[in-house]
Amino acid sequence: MAQHTPMIQQYLGIKAQYKDAFLFFRLGDFYELFFEDAKLAAKELEITLTGRGSDKERIPMCGVPYHSAEQYITQLIEKGYKIAICEQVEDPREAKGVVKREVVKLITPGTVMDGKTISDKENNYITSVTEFNEGKFGFVRTDLTTGESAITVLTGGIEEVIFELASIGAKEVIVSPNISESYLGLFKQRLALTISFEENEFLPESFQSLCESLQQEQLTVTVARLYNYLVRTQRRSLDHLQKVQYYTANQYMKIDYHSKRNLEIIETIREKKKKGSLFWIVDATVTAMGARLLKQWLEQPLIDQSEIDERLTVVETFIEQFFTREELREALTEVYDLERLAGKVAYGNVNARELVQLRRSLQQVPKIVQIVKELNVPLTDRLMTTIDHCEDLLDLLETSIVDDPPLSVKDGGMIKAGYNSELDQYRDASLNGKKWIAALEQKERQETGIKSLKIGYNKVFGYYIEVTKANIQNLPEGRYERKQTLANAERYITPELKEKETLILEAEEKIEQLEYDLFQGIREQVKSYIRQLQQLAKTISTLDVLQSFASISNEQNFVRPKFSSDRDINIKDGRHPVVEKMINRGQYVSNDVVMNREREILLITGPNMAGKSTYMRQLALTSILAQVGCFVPATEAVLPIFDQIFTRIGAADDLASGQSTFMVEMLETKHALTNATENSLILLDEIGRGTSTYDGMALAQAIVEYIHEQIGAKTLFSTHYHELTSLEHQLERLTNVHVSAVEEDGKVVFLHKVVDGQADRSYGIYVAQLAELPQHVIVRADEILHQLEGEEKQVVSVERMLLKEQEEQPVQLSLFGEEKKQQKKPQINSTETAIIKDLKKVDILNMTPFEALQKLNEIQMKLKK
Ligand code: ADP
Repeated sequence: MAQHTPMIQQYLGIKAQYKDAFLFFRLGDFYELFFEDAKLAAKELEITLTGRGSDKERIPMCGVPYHSAEQYITQLIEKGYKIAICEQVEDPREAKGVVKREVVKLITPGTVMDGKTISDKENNYITSVTEFNEGKFGFVRTDLTTGESAITVLTGGIEEVIFELASIGAKEVIVSPNISESYLGLFKQRLALTISFEENEFLPESFQSLCESLQQEQLTVTVARLYNYLVRTQRRSLDHLQKVQYYTANQYMKIDYHSKRNLEIIETIREKKKKGSLFWIVDATVTAMGARLLKQWLEQPLIDQSEIDERLTVVETFIEQFFTREELREALTEVYDLERLAGKVAYGNVNARELVQLRRSLQQVPKIVQIVKELNVPLTDRLMTTIDHCEDLLDLLETSIVDDPPLSVKDGGMIKAGYNSELDQYRDASLNGKKWIAALEQKERQETGIKSLKIGYNKVFGYYIEVTKANIQNLPEGRYERKQTLANAERYITPELKEKETLILEAEEKIEQLEYDLFQGIREQVKSYIRQLQQLAKTISTLDVLQSFASISNEQNFVRPKFSSDRDINIKDGRHPVVEKMINRGQYVSNDVVMNREREILLITGPNMAGKSTYMRQLALTSILAQVGCFVPATEAVLPIFDQIFTRIGAADDLASGQSTFMVEMLETKHALTNATENSLILLDEIGRGTSTYDGMALAQAIVEYIHEQIGAKTLFSTHYHELTSLEHQLERLTNVHVSAVEEDGKVVFLHKVVDGQADRSYGIYVAQLAELPQHVIVRADEILHQLEGEEKQVVSVERMLLKEQEEQPVQLSLFGEEKKQQKKPQINSTETAIIKDLKKVDILNMTPFEALQKLNEIQMKLKK
């Protein structure tokens, strides 16, 4: 094989250090890619693959122009790739041999700071995971654009890590090179994120102050891995990184990843859109940082009642004080993304326009403080004590930067007059020179009598006097020196003009340089306010979210929830906020939810499409809203504080790829059954649907019994197995409810109203008819249904005959083929059910004979009614 050229050798040397990234190798005005990088990039970016060198040893190559590289980088980042930017670090004219080149930065999906990949309303997380022992993992997440970091210990094994990574939408995860292959396999298979390795686990000295609150050595290791990766790859200031916040899972209401998806809290399941989610309903935030905080709150509802009530009180006050709220909203419209601006300041890439945004934001602070102080509420009063007006910074920005500076920081025009006397002098010089030139133009026109004579400027010739061809004859010979001939004009110069030109150009060059230097100095000064700006950002975003809750609650007629210490639920006229907004206003049928010690489980039956799952989701969303501190869609609401919400609703798909829908259903159910407590809310929708009827029904019944006996969580259980409604007689704290429907002229009308008692039938064929299945199918299904109903009756009657002698009771068919016979509960009405429940509770040993007689009489009266 032929020896590579020195440049290719240099390329290979650098590439060896960045094996997992595209190496953008600077060659003149292009970034070039070679070998496998080139082949892959050409495919991903749809650019032409060329080659370098002789035919035999041709090296695949492709390139992108330096000035438009950003769009290509964005495309690759969005596909999850990393890019190492390799620049020429010496002047090619001075280089001996190959120009020296170095990688100046590594751009990765988790570390991009700007560009289209970053959405205003979303955090961009880079994470790190370290396995401790026995299913425990340290998990840290950082948003480099805002500098926030949060760390926790996950105890639910690798599955929980995957849930967590997916639920925060992590872009990149940093792991140890020794991580188990099976975990890596799972990450690759189930998550669309970039995996990076870092072996250095020692916390750099300069980051120690950020980790002071971390008690466990292992947590520090988790953060250290992340920081070392950032230091190694970013090679610029990370001054904006904030203290790492430690949180424990039991500080917040836990909602696992599947449930978050199922409940469509942040985005819809199918289209992954905000519209149709709970976030969409309650987002009336004005600032981008407010929107990001709102998302974080929705992901982590509180469980401390006093904290929740503090938020609710602010919301209530904002609702009462409409004008104050409107004033605040208006002030907030002038506040820019302080968090991300602070990040840019630290990174050193903030421009003058952004500093003007910072100035405008700071100008709003006194107004905001004044508005908020009027509220007189503990939470906002506390927030106001931490607010820093950053007056000195504001003063600096007001005196230094012009109101409408250019985008580039290299062309001047940014610094205000009066800020720097040297700059003012240069500007005067330049201005005077220009005035002199304007005066010269006037003078020459008069003296030559040529009215169209003008003085112009271009980059090649500098200042010149232009006379049209028609007027040349009027020009006295030798007055000017000819410089350039155009088609219909001549251009001239004079020694005096050139002299002034030199003065002006020199001044302008100095101005540009001096402005740039002054601007750098201002940037440096702003840097020392990063912490205050971050604190300010937090306060303002909190106010923004609270006013958002108030605006929405007011607009949508939400009510302040109350909390019950007895775990009671009492919702009057509850609504599903999303469904209500999607259908025409006024068409939504509100529903009550009453659950208490006697009604821990509601078994919901009713036709398909009647509104069972809407009713279930409605309760979950209402609870989440209450616990984030927002009012709720009802006319009255008493709720417990739930520690966790579990759902098994609809078909979950992609994440758990490789598993059947039924397996997913069972995994989710297992998750609920093993983690729920009596303070949890469980929603199980049509459990057992994914398997054969008897299998499914048996599982469904066993699951309900388990929740009833072992967990005691508040549970909504919808089912199409009507047989399960008989559980009401066996399970004391289970109550049947159903969504009503009526038949009118052979058509089913769904009333969407949930009432006590069981549904009489399932109306599946009517729904099929509504969906306009071929008439033939409908008619045939109807026939088969009648046939089956007939057979069922027959089976039961045969069994009944067989058993008559033994028990005089009907039997249920054995589910497992054994000869074990179960007693079927006789069909009884709701009065009788209530009496049985009542009887079970009677404490006979502590009754007098008279009391017992009275009870008996009471029962008889009820039965005679
Ligand atoms: P099920 O779970 O019983 O099959 P869903 O809860 O999915 O039914 O509801 C089906 C549709 O009925 C919903 O998409 C919604 O449009 C409508 N719906 C449900 N509940 C209500 C309600 N309370 N008021 C008005 N429309 C409702």
